[in-house]
Amino acid sequence: MPPSASPVEVLSPVQNSSPVRILLVDDDEANLLSLTATLECLGQELVLARSGEEALRHLLEHDFAAILLDVKMPGMDGLETAEMIRNRKRSKNTPILFLTGFRNDDHLFRGYDLGAVDFLFKPIVPEVLRSKVAVFVDLAKNTALLREHTVILGQAELRFRSLLEAAPDAMLITNEAGEIELVNSRTEELFGWPREILRERNLKMLVPGWTEAAQVRSIELVGVKRDGQEFPCELTCSPLRIEGNMVIYTVIRDITERRRAEDHIRRLNVDLERRVALRTLELTRSNEALQQFNWAVSHDLKEPLRTVLIFLQLFQRETHELPDSSQEHLDRVVGAAKRIELLLNGLQNYLFASDSSEGAAEVVDVGEVLSSLQQQLSDQLAEAVADLEIGPMPVVKTNRGLLDRVFQNLLTNAIKYRSGNPLRIAVSAERRAREWTFSIRDNGIGIPPEHHELIFGVFKRLHNDAEVPGTGIGLAICKVAVERLGGRIWVESEFGRGSTFKLSLPSRD
Ligand code: ADP
Repeated sequence: MPPSASPVEVLSPVQNSSPVRILLVDDDEANLLSLTATLECLGQELVLARSGEEALRHLLEHDFAAILLDVKMPGMDGLETAEMIRNRKRSKNTPILFLTGFRNDDHLFRGYDLGAVDFLFKPIVPEVLRSKVAVFVDLAKNTALLREHTVILGQAELRFRSLLEAAPDAMLITNEAGEIELVNSRTEELFGWPREILRERNLKMLVPGWTEAAQVRSIELVGVKRDGQEFPCELTCSPLRIEGNMVIYTVIRDITERRRAEDHIRRLNVDLERRVALRTLELTRSNEALQQFNWAVSHDLKEPLRTVLIFLQLFQRETHELPDSSQEHLDRVVGAAKRIELLLNGLQNYLFASDSSEGAAEVVDVGEVLSSLQQQLSDQLAEAVADLEIGPMPVVKTNRGLLDRVFQNLLTNAIKYRSGNPLRIAVSAERRAREWTFSIRDNGIGIPPEHHELIFGVFKRLHNDAEVPGTGIGLAICKVAVERLGGRIWVESEFGRGSTFKLSLPSRD
């Protein structure tokens, strides 16, 4: 039941205006006629009986609001009839008005003994009779009304009690001071007290923090069980006005589980924050390490290598008298040193692409990136007599430098690893759910399926330098760059049937 701000008024009176029955018993037809004429205007149902026996027969079938009984009748007289009426349970309390021609004390005593409500002496004054009968009519109607109310009340109470008992929460009815009047079985179960004891106690025994001020709202307090165990609970109190008295309807919910779940979520959040902080620290450290390594490659390794190369080349120029074999050895050393320099450059590019502190996201027109690459590679494309087709491209939020490098490597490879056929390269984009997938398809030499993963490794190549020059770092750079952009890269290819490199990027609209 939701808390209500204003007290609720319970029950409204039931109207009952259906007519009641009045039994008129007299052996004299003329008397019956005059009684009928007098009482007709009351608008009730008048039932006539000409003897005590006939009266009893009517009483077997109906209840009457009042019986007007002539004392003097042949056969069973009025007093005998009254005795029979009184002896029957159903009519035991039906009011009897005796009609008698003369005042006889014996009759009076016996009549009152038999439960007569009144005596009317003939000749009967119509107004007196009418007003007396009207009183009984009202009485009967009120009794019926009361009975009806009692039934309704009983049903309402039954419904209320079954609702109360079926409720999953503890429910109590107290007065304004918190003295308990009614509890449901969940209350007994939750607090461990039987209802007989609870009915004599105050709500403060169960919830010490409860105050009169806790009305009309929900608050979280501490409940105390019979064994002293405390638990968190939520109280919702609503005032209710029943027959002019204020009562407080209180719902107590055990929120132990809810608290436990909240604590669990709080702990998870703390743990998550800690892990994020740790991961950030790890990333910062690995970036620092990466930067140091990058520095080491460009200064500590590349510089002495440059010196070695310069002196080797000087040596090569100055020493013409060397035997051919030594000259060849020298050439090979120079070649190897140049290759080391090439690999170090590749490694440097790879380290740069891996550095997550580099490059923020920006709005990038992919079509524009591709056409400027087409310009840059125009000589190589022309030399390969290549047809490069670029389909409709989206604008995405990403890092332009990294994306540019990925497309450049993939296009260069498509040119490098062409077959004897005229080269055709097609670049297309397709949106699926929340990502864009770009495809770079060529009709080149293709890649056997067993190498589809390997080729993305650092310095991994399927050809030696003499066949096709290269360092094996291009696709490794593509992989690390695409992963940094939040996407993935893979190849679909068959040996001899061309390759399609695919990369997907989050759309981030
Ligand atoms: P590199 O081209 O310097 O060898 P990559 O990392 O770019 O290094 O490529 C790795 C290997 O993958 C290449 O040696 C080549 O064998 C294969 N490969 C890459 N692109 C293609 C392609 N478009 N068609 C066929 N093979 C390819």
